[in-house]
Amino acid sequence: ANTPISVVGLGLMGTALARAFLKAGHPTTVWNRTAAKADSLVAEGARLAPTIGDALGAVTILCLTDYSAVRELLGDAGLAGTTLVNLTSGDSAQARETAAWAEKQGARYVDGAIMAIPSAIGTAEAVILLSGPRPDFELGALGTISYLGEDPGLASLYDVAGLTMMWSVLNAWLQGTAMLKTAGVDAATYAPFARQIAAGVADWLPGYAEQIDKDSFPAEVSALETDARAMAHMVEESEALGVNAELPKLIKAMADRAIAAGHGGEQYPVLIREFERAGE
Ligand code: NDP
Repeated sequence: ANTPISVVGLGLMGTALARAFLKAGHPTTVWNRTAAKADSLVAEGARLAPTIGDALGAVTILCLTDYSAVRELLGDAGLAGTTLVNLTSGDSAQARETAAWAEKQGARYVDGAIMAIPSAIGTAEAVILLSGPRPDFELGALGTISYLGEDPGLASLYDVAGLTMMWSVLNAWLQGTAMLKTAGVDAATYAPFARQIAAGVADWLPGYAEQIDKDSFPAEVSALETDARAMAHMVEESEALGVNAELPKLIKAMADRAIAAGHGGEQYPVLIREFERAGE
Protein backbone atom coordinates (compact mmCIF):
# COMPACT_ATOMS: atom_id res chain seq x y z
CA ALA A 1 0.00 0.00 0.00
CA ASN A 2 1.17 3.52 -0.70
CA THR A 3 2.39 5.55 2.28
CA PRO A 4 -0.04 8.26 3.39
CA ILE A 5 1.57 11.62 2.65
CA SER A 6 0.89 15.19 3.71
CA VAL A 7 2.00 18.11 1.58
CA VAL A 8 2.37 21.41 3.44
CA GLY A 9 2.78 24.47 1.24
CA LEU A 10 0.67 24.55 -1.90
CA GLY A 11 2.49 27.10 -4.00
CA LEU A 12 3.46 26.30 -7.58
CA MET A 13 5.80 23.51 -6.51
CA GLY A 14 3.84 22.13 -3.53
CA THR A 15 0.71 21.82 -5.70
CA ALA A 16 2.68 19.80 -8.28
CA LEU A 17 4.08 17.55 -5.53
CA ALA A 18 0.62 16.90 -4.05
CA ARG A 19 -0.82 16.17 -7.49
CA ALA A 20 1.94 13.63 -8.22
CA PHE A 21 1.26 11.80 -4.94
CA LEU A 22 -2.47 11.73 -5.71
CA LYS A 23 -1.84 10.41 -9.23
CA ALA A 24 0.40 7.66 -7.86
CA GLY A 25 -2.33 6.58 -5.44
CA HIS A 26 -0.91 7.86 -2.14
CA PRO A 27 -3.60 8.87 0.37
CA THR A 28 -2.76 12.59 0.30
CA THR A 29 -3.48 15.26 2.88
CA VAL A 30 -2.78 18.90 2.07
CA TRP A 31 -2.43 22.07 4.09
CA ASN A 32 -1.73 25.65 3.03
CA ARG A 33 -1.70 28.94 4.93
CA THR A 34 -4.08 30.32 2.31
CA ALA A 35 -6.58 27.45 2.39
CA ALA A 36 -8.25 28.30 -0.95
CA LYS A 37 -5.16 27.08 -2.80
CA ALA A 38 -6.14 23.54 -1.76
CA ASP A 39 -9.50 23.62 -3.58
CA SER A 40 -8.46 22.02 -6.87
CA LEU A 41 -6.43 19.31 -5.09
CA VAL A 42 -9.40 18.50 -2.86
CA ALA A 43 -11.53 18.19 -6.00
CA GLU A 44 -8.93 15.70 -7.27
CA GLY A 45 -9.17 13.59 -4.12
CA ALA A 46 -6.88 15.17 -1.53
CA ARG A 47 -8.00 15.58 2.06
CA LEU A 48 -7.71 19.10 3.48
CA ALA A 49 -6.14 19.06 6.95
CA PRO A 50 -8.12 21.32 9.28
CA THR A 51 -4.91 22.36 11.10
CA ILE A 52 -1.18 22.14 10.47
CA GLY A 53 -0.97 19.81 13.49
CA ASP A 54 -3.40 17.42 11.80
CA ALA A 55 -1.30 17.43 8.61
CA LEU A 56 1.77 16.39 10.58
CA GLY A 57 0.15 13.01 11.32
CA ALA A 58 1.52 11.51 8.08
CA VAL A 59 4.94 11.66 6.39
CA THR A 60 4.98 15.39 5.74
CA ILE A 61 6.50 17.04 2.69
CA LEU A 62 7.29 20.70 3.36
CA CYS A 63 7.55 23.05 0.38
CA LEU A 64 7.49 26.66 1.51
CA THR A 65 9.21 29.83 0.31
CA ASP A 66 12.25 29.48 2.54
CA TYR A 67 13.56 27.98 5.78
CA SER A 68 12.40 30.87 7.95
CA ALA A 69 8.83 30.21 6.76
CA VAL A 70 9.28 26.56 7.79
CA ARG A 71 10.51 27.52 11.26
CA GLU A 72 7.78 30.13 11.64
CA LEU A 73 5.07 27.68 10.65
CA LEU A 74 6.26 24.68 12.66
CA GLY A 75 7.55 26.65 15.63
CA ASP A 76 4.86 25.58 18.04
CA ALA A 77 3.08 22.83 16.12
CA GLY A 78 4.60 20.01 18.25
CA LEU A 79 6.95 17.81 16.28
CA ALA A 80 7.45 14.76 18.53
CA GLY A 81 6.98 11.56 16.51
CA THR A 82 6.58 13.37 13.19
CA THR A 83 8.42 12.59 9.95
CA LEU A 84 9.35 15.68 7.95
CA VAL A 85 10.78 15.85 4.44
CA ASN A 86 11.75 19.47 3.84
CA LEU A 87 11.99 20.14 0.09
CA THR A 88 12.19 23.91 0.57
CA SER A 89 15.27 25.41 -1.13
CA GLY A 90 18.04 26.71 1.09
CA ASP A 91 21.70 26.35 1.96
CA SER A 92 23.47 23.55 3.81
CA ALA A 93 23.80 25.50 7.07
CA GLN A 94 20.04 26.12 7.14
CA ALA A 95 19.42 22.43 6.43
CA ARG A 96 21.75 21.27 9.22
CA GLU A 97 20.32 23.80 11.71
CA THR A 98 16.75 22.88 10.86
CA ALA A 99 17.58 19.16 11.12
CA ALA A 100 19.07 19.68 14.60
CA TRP A 101 16.10 21.82 15.65
CA ALA A 102 13.53 19.26 14.45
CA GLU A 103 15.42 16.26 15.87
CA LYS A 104 15.69 17.93 19.26
CA GLN A 105 11.89 18.03 19.32
CA GLY A 106 11.70 14.32 18.50
CA ALA A 107 10.99 14.55 14.76
CA ARG A 108 12.60 12.44 12.05
CA TYR A 109 13.91 15.03 9.59
CA VAL A 110 15.01 14.47 6.01
CA ASP A 111 16.21 17.44 4.00
CA GLY A 112 15.90 17.69 0.25
CA ALA A 113 16.25 19.78 -2.86
CA ILE A 114 14.15 19.72 -6.01
CA MET A 115 16.08 19.88 -9.28
CA ALA A 116 13.06 20.40 -11.53
CA ILE A 117 10.28 22.76 -12.50
CA PRO A 118 6.71 22.02 -11.36
CA SER A 119 5.57 20.61 -14.73
CA ALA A 120 8.32 17.94 -14.61
CA ILE A 121 7.28 16.62 -11.19
CA GLY A 122 6.05 13.05 -11.48
CA THR A 123 8.33 12.24 -14.43
CA ALA A 124 11.77 10.57 -14.31
CA GLU A 125 13.31 13.89 -15.39
CA ALA A 126 12.53 15.45 -12.00
CA VAL A 127 15.49 14.73 -9.74
CA ILE A 128 14.79 15.00 -6.02
CA LEU A 129 17.88 15.01 -3.81
CA LEU A 130 17.48 13.74 -0.24
CA SER A 131 19.87 13.69 2.72
CA GLY A 132 19.59 12.90 6.42
CA PRO A 133 18.27 9.63 7.88
CA ARG A 134 17.64 7.20 5.00
CA PRO A 135 13.89 7.30 4.25
CA ASP A 136 12.03 4.01 4.73
CA PHE A 137 9.07 5.30 2.72
CA GLU A 138 8.60 5.62 -1.01
CA LEU A 139 8.74 9.04 -2.68
CA GLY A 140 9.22 7.74 -6.23
CA ALA A 141 5.89 9.31 -7.24
CA LEU A 142 7.76 12.63 -7.45
CA GLY A 143 10.42 11.56 -9.93
CA THR A 144 13.96 10.20 -9.64
CA ILE A 145 14.91 10.07 -5.98
CA SER A 146 18.60 10.37 -5.20
CA TYR A 147 19.58 9.64 -1.58
CA LEU A 148 22.96 11.23 -0.84
CA GLY A 149 23.80 10.26 2.75
CA GLU A 150 23.26 10.99 6.44
CA ASP A 151 24.51 14.60 6.53
CA PRO A 152 21.34 16.69 6.09
CA GLY A 153 23.37 19.44 4.38
CA LEU A 154 24.27 17.23 1.41
CA ALA A 155 21.11 17.82 -0.64
CA SER A 156 21.66 21.60 -0.57
CA LEU A 157 25.36 21.20 -1.37
CA TYR A 158 24.66 18.97 -4.37
CA ASP A 159 21.97 21.45 -5.42
CA VAL A 160 24.40 24.41 -5.56
CA ALA A 161 27.18 22.26 -7.03
CA GLY A 162 24.81 21.23 -9.80
CA LEU A 163 23.80 24.83 -10.45
CA THR A 164 27.48 25.81 -10.65
CA MET A 165 28.02 23.12 -13.27
CA MET A 166 24.97 24.22 -15.22
CA TRP A 167 25.78 27.93 -15.33
CA SER A 168 29.47 27.37 -15.99
CA VAL A 169 28.74 25.21 -19.02
CA LEU A 170 26.13 27.67 -20.29
CA ASN A 171 28.44 30.67 -19.83
CA ALA A 172 31.28 28.90 -21.65
CA TRP A 173 28.92 28.14 -24.51
CA LEU A 174 27.68 31.74 -24.64
CA GLN A 175 31.28 33.01 -24.73
CA GLY A 176 32.07 30.85 -27.74
CA THR A 177 28.80 31.81 -29.41
CA ALA A 178 29.64 35.51 -29.03
CA MET A 179 33.07 34.88 -30.56
CA LEU A 180 31.70 32.93 -33.52
CA LYS A 181 28.91 35.41 -34.19
CA THR A 182 31.60 37.98 -35.08
CA ALA A 183 32.43 35.70 -38.04
CA GLY A 184 28.79 35.35 -39.06
CA VAL A 185 28.37 31.86 -37.55
CA ASP A 186 24.98 31.66 -35.90
CA ALA A 187 24.30 30.03 -32.54
CA ALA A 188 22.58 26.99 -34.04
CA THR A 189 25.56 26.26 -36.28
CA TYR A 190 28.03 26.39 -33.39
CA ALA A 191 25.81 24.49 -30.88
CA PRO A 192 26.55 20.91 -32.10
CA PHE A 193 30.32 21.54 -31.89
CA ALA A 194 29.92 23.05 -28.41
CA ARG A 195 27.83 20.09 -27.31
CA GLN A 196 30.49 17.66 -28.51
CA ILE A 197 33.21 19.49 -26.55
CA ALA A 198 31.07 19.62 -23.41
CA ALA A 199 30.32 15.90 -23.64
CA GLY A 200 33.99 15.08 -24.29
CA VAL A 201 35.11 17.11 -21.27
CA ALA A 202 32.45 15.42 -19.12
CA ASP A 203 34.16 12.11 -19.90
CA TRP A 204 37.38 13.37 -18.30
CA LEU A 205 35.78 13.85 -14.89
CA PRO A 206 36.25 10.35 -13.43
CA GLY A 207 39.98 10.27 -14.21
CA TYR A 208 40.53 13.82 -13.00
CA ALA A 209 38.51 13.10 -9.85
CA GLU A 210 40.88 10.22 -9.12
CA GLN A 211 43.83 12.64 -9.30
CA ILE A 212 42.11 15.01 -6.87
CA ASP A 213 41.24 12.21 -4.44
CA LYS A 214 44.85 10.94 -4.54
CA ASP A 215 46.15 14.52 -4.36
CA SER A 216 48.57 13.64 -7.16
CA PHE A 217 48.53 15.42 -10.51
CA PRO A 218 51.03 13.94 -12.97
CA ALA A 219 50.77 15.65 -16.39
CA GLU A 220 49.67 12.58 -18.34
CA VAL A 221 47.89 14.55 -21.07
CA SER A 222 49.03 18.14 -20.81
CA ALA A 223 50.83 20.36 -18.31
CA LEU A 224 49.06 23.40 -16.87
CA GLU A 225 51.73 25.64 -18.46
CA THR A 226 50.72 24.34 -21.90
CA ASP A 227 47.05 24.95 -21.10
CA ALA A 228 47.86 28.50 -19.96
CA ARG A 229 49.34 29.34 -23.37
CA ALA A 230 46.04 28.36 -25.01
CA MET A 231 44.23 30.46 -22.41
CA ALA A 232 46.25 33.49 -23.50
CA HIS A 233 44.92 32.97 -27.05
CA MET A 234 41.39 32.80 -25.68
CA VAL A 235 41.82 36.13 -23.85
CA GLU A 236 43.57 37.88 -26.76
CA GLU A 237 41.04 36.64 -29.27
CA SER A 238 38.11 37.87 -27.15
CA GLU A 239 39.72 41.28 -26.74
CA ALA A 240 40.60 41.55 -30.43
CA LEU A 241 37.04 40.63 -31.43
CA GLY A 242 35.58 43.17 -29.03
CA VAL A 243 33.53 40.60 -27.13
CA ASN A 244 33.39 40.28 -23.35
CA ALA A 245 36.70 38.92 -21.99
CA GLU A 246 35.79 38.63 -18.29
CA LEU A 247 35.29 34.86 -18.29
CA PRO A 248 38.45 34.10 -20.35
CA LYS A 249 40.46 36.39 -18.02
CA LEU A 250 39.11 34.69 -14.92
CA ILE A 251 40.00 31.27 -16.31
CA LYS A 252 43.53 32.42 -17.13
CA ALA A 253 44.02 34.27 -13.82
CA MET A 254 43.27 31.12 -11.83
CA ALA A 255 45.71 29.05 -13.87
CA ASP A 256 48.36 31.78 -13.59
CA ARG A 257 48.05 31.74 -9.80
CA ALA A 258 48.49 27.96 -9.69
CA ILE A 259 51.54 28.26 -11.96
CA ALA A 260 52.98 31.00 -9.74
CA ALA A 261 52.49 28.62 -6.80
CA GLY A 262 54.69 26.07 -8.60
CA HIS A 263 52.10 23.82 -10.25
CA GLY A 264 52.86 24.60 -13.92
CA GLY A 265 54.21 21.11 -14.61
CA GLU A 266 51.17 19.36 -13.20
CA GLN A 267 47.83 18.50 -14.77
CA TYR A 268 44.75 20.74 -14.87
CA PRO A 269 42.83 19.42 -11.83
CA VAL A 270 45.66 20.70 -9.59
CA LEU A 271 43.59 23.92 -9.85
CA ILE A 272 41.38 22.41 -7.14
CA ARG A 273 43.78 24.21 -4.78
CA GLU A 274 42.59 27.55 -6.19
CA PHE A 275 38.96 26.53 -5.76
CA GLU A 276 39.39 25.22 -2.22
CA ARG A 277 40.35 28.54 -0.72
CA ALA A 278 38.39 31.78 -0.59
CA GLY A 279 39.54 34.35 -3.15
CA GLU A 280 40.56 37.94 -2.42
P1 NDP B 1 5.38 29.80 -4.19
O1 NDP B 1 5.71 31.22 -3.92
O2 NDP B 1 4.48 29.46 -5.31
O3 NDP B 1 4.76 29.16 -2.84
C1 NDP B 1 5.25 29.48 -1.56
C2 NDP B 1 4.48 28.69 -0.51
O4 NDP B 1 5.02 28.98 0.79
C3 NDP B 1 2.98 29.02 -0.45
O5 NDP B 1 2.28 27.83 -0.18
C4 NDP B 1 2.93 29.98 0.75
O6 NDP B 1 1.67 29.99 1.40
C5 NDP B 1 3.94 29.33 1.66
N1 NDP B 1 4.45 30.18 2.72
C6 NDP B 1 5.35 31.20 2.62
N2 NDP B 1 5.61 31.73 3.82
C7 NDP B 1 4.83 31.05 4.72
C8 NDP B 1 4.67 31.14 6.12
N3 NDP B 1 5.33 32.03 6.86
N4 NDP B 1 3.82 30.27 6.72
C9 NDP B 1 3.16 29.35 5.98
N5 NDP B 1 3.27 29.21 4.65
C10 NDP B 1 4.12 30.06 4.02
O7 NDP B 1 6.78 29.06 -4.33
P2 NDP B 1 7.10 27.65 -5.07
O8 NDP B 1 6.02 26.68 -4.77
O9 NDP B 1 7.48 27.91 -6.47
O10 NDP B 1 8.43 27.25 -4.31
C11 NDP B 1 8.42 26.59 -3.04
C12 NDP B 1 9.83 26.06 -2.76
O11 NDP B 1 10.18 25.13 -3.80
C13 NDP B 1 10.89 27.16 -2.76
O12 NDP B 1 11.84 26.91 -1.74
C14 NDP B 1 11.50 27.02 -4.13
O13 NDP B 1 12.84 27.49 -4.16
C15 NDP B 1 11.43 25.52 -4.34
N6 NDP B 1 11.54 25.16 -5.76
C16 NDP B 1 10.67 25.70 -6.68
C17 NDP B 1 10.84 25.47 -8.03
C18 NDP B 1 9.91 26.05 -9.03
O14 NDP B 1 10.21 25.92 -10.24
N7 NDP B 1 8.79 26.66 -8.65
C19 NDP B 1 11.97 24.63 -8.50
C20 NDP B 1 12.77 24.04 -7.46
C21 NDP B 1 12.58 24.33 -6.14
P3 NDP B 1 0.51 31.00 0.87
O15 NDP B 1 -0.11 30.33 -0.32
O16 NDP B 1 -0.41 31.11 2.02
O17 NDP B 1 1.19 32.31 0.52
